[in-house]
Amino acid sequence: ALTAGIVGLPNVGKSTLFNAITKAGAEMANYPFATIEPNVGMVEVPDDRLDRIQELIPADKVVPTTFEFTDIAGIVKGASQGEGLGNKFLENIRQVNAIVHVVRAFDDDDITHVSGKVDPLDDIETINTELVLADLESIDKRFSRVEKAAKSAKDKEAIAELAVLEQLKPALEAGKPARSIEWDDDEQKIIHNLFLLTSKPVLYVANVAEDDMADPTASEYFQQIKQYADEENADVIGISARAEEEIAEMDDEDKAEFMELQGITEPGLNRLIRAAYHMLDLRTFFTAGGKETRAWTFRAGMKAPQVAGVIHSDFERGFIRAETFSFEDLDKYASLKAIKEAGRRRSEGKEYVVQDGDIIEFLFNV
Ligand code: GDP
Repeated sequence: ALTAGIVGLPNVGKSTLFNAITKAGAEMANYPFATIEPNVGMVEVPDDRLDRIQELIPADKVVPTTFEFTDIAGIVKGASQGEGLGNKFLENIRQVNAIVHVVRAFDDDDITHVSGKVDPLDDIETINTELVLADLESIDKRFSRVEKAAKSAKDKEAIAELAVLEQLKPALEAGKPARSIEWDDDEQKIIHNLFLLTSKPVLYVANVAEDDMADPTASEYFQQIKQYADEENADVIGISARAEEEIAEMDDEDKAEFMELQGITEPGLNRLIRAAYHMLDLRTFFTAGGKETRAWTFRAGMKAPQVAGVIHSDFERGFIRAETFSFEDLDKYASLKAIKEAGRRRSEGKEYVVQDGDIIEFLFNV
């Protein structure tokens, strides 16, 4: 499964946020699989469309799709030199599909800051420097090999890769992550194959004070982080990890009351989940009309057979076609019958690129 790894300096609120995630996940009604690693937190992806589908095409139960966060502990200065847990930390980052970088954006004299003062940009740089150094080291080894292949053997692929490396290296040397460069599609493929740390998408989470919860964007720390994130094509959201942990423990009634008091309409965790989903280019399709109304996750650009494989590998192997209509149409025509009469239910084949919000029935050979 796709996962976003939570990183950050010590004492910035990572565990607090991760606790909020696991507690929210523990509430999940339809938890399908029990075995999960202690550093993995699974949450439901909030989606109002599910309720509307259930209203119009009722089923026994409603099953939201899920999203995984992985807690990556142990960043230390010097990680790229393999100090202490450093190597392990970098390896763990290599395994995740995206990075959620938690940054302290609250003042609290009782909570020690590793470098003695709250300075979000300095904190971000500390971690990013380690990642940049690790990438520099890994491309250095590759550089000479590719250069040789490009120059002596005139190998086409090597020539293309060399061009990317020649652009990448000075950027990294200047402390810039690979994602800060706008790569075209071909270059992007090469970058992908380099398994870099700094090419992974990043979402910065400004852990703001509880007082700033209603409008995190008003916090000065948030604004600093936002400016930094913009420059490297990354996103940022502001939440209060401590408040989220409290919210995750409340029953629905207390939750509603607390949120109203704070002037928020939904938990910040929902925004985090959506932002992480978006960062990974994830989309949702639905199945309905059977025993359950259910949301599933796929990656933007996937074609019908691959998407069928999200449900079961047999569906992909034996794929015949997809019977589908959009959520917008269901919402508008308000019944299956009306959708069919309006000719809005379509038969799609192997080449169909599934769209977010599609409600699909897959037909397949067993
Ligand atoms: P980690 O080392 O990054 O995992 O940080 P922790 O989650 O353990 O948090 C470190 C300390 O900061 C703990 O005492 C938390 O209760 C506290 N903390 C976390 N989030 C907030 C917050 O939003 N506001 C305040 N005041 N304290 C927080």
